[in-house]
Amino acid sequence: MKETVSFSREAANLFFHILTGCNLSCRHCYINPHQHGTQPLPLETIESWLEIFARRSQAANVIFLGGEPTLHPHLSQAVHKARNLGYRSITIDTNGFLFHDILDKISPEEIDYFSFSLDGATVAVNDRIRGDGCFRKCTEGIQNAVSRGFHASLIYTVNQDNIHELPLMPPFLKELGIERFFVQVLGLRGQSAGGINEDHRVSRTEWLETVPSTAEAAADLGIVTVYPKVFLELDEPFECAGQVADNYFVFPNGRVYRCPLCEDHPVHSLRVEENQLLPTGPINETDLFALTIPEGCVMNRLIQPENLAYNDRGDPEYRIACCLLKEELRPI
Ligand code: SF4
Ligand code: SF4
Repeated sequence: MKETVSFSREAANLFFHILTGCNLSCRHCYINPHQHGTQPLPLETIESWLEIFARRSQAANVIFLGGEPTLHPHLSQAVHKARNLGYRSITIDTNGFLFHDILDKISPEEIDYFSFSLDGATVAVNDRIRGDGCFRKCTEGIQNAVSRGFHASLIYTVNQDNIHELPLMPPFLKELGIERFFVQVLGLRGQSAGGINEDHRVSRTEWLETVPSTAEAAADLGIVTVYPKVFLELDEPFECAGQVADNYFVFPNGRVYRCPLCEDHPVHSLRVEENQLLPTGPINETDLFALTIPEGCVMNRLIQPENLAYNDRGDPEYRIACCLLKEELRPI
């Protein structure tokens, strides 16, 4: 069953970057310590901020991120706290190295998913993007987690160097015991914004020829598969999640964004200061959300206009959807 997942107006999502440090230097890393701070959050601060967002949005989903969140020595306590506060679901996004024996410190009942990142179906392709030894380490991490009863999902960020291996992923994921598969589009943020990756994004044609069919193949194997819609026909409705959904992208220096594409710029609309969530003054990202342009997403138009194409009259041939609009395929 295929479904375009519009933004939930009921459930909030807290994307909680508890540190920006990482043991890897993936080529497409979107982390930007210059904008988001270099110091890991102390446990007490993590706990206070979890309380703030639990009060603001009942039964929110929390996703612990970094950098590499398992590098934080108190991640397990943060998970316990989130569970006690009643968060609806808890996910840890990891590169698979699983530091600080995290699998020994939390139980499968305490978190909903470990979400691993792999960017190739082979050592050669993955490690060229993520670094030597990463394929082995990540697949071992998945096997360890799954064998202990944890649910595992996997994120694959599509680019020119790995799109040819995307169709190889569904049987491989099945073999690994992955239950949810997230295909991600290469964004120009953090280190990706430096120019190195601009030539690595795939075209609309390549995306449409490969991603939907791979997603169907994964769903046929019983794996829930999600990918961003990216391209909208001109008659399809456009909505900006920043206006209608309840997402918070929280960073160690207290910046809180409602839109991930804004993260490279000091346009966050909220900030945490002295354990209070406060609005920032104008001009901020919310001023952008309200703008209506024929190309769809305003931030895409500003930071990655190469995604767009125009006809002879200068009208866009299609629109770019909100990056948070997803297609979801559920096995029947
Ligand atoms: S993409 Fe993730 S795993 Fe890779 S360097 Fe960035 S934070 Fe680390
Ligand atoms: S990606 Fe675009 S459409 Fe989505 S929240 Fe950001 S500005 Fe709005």
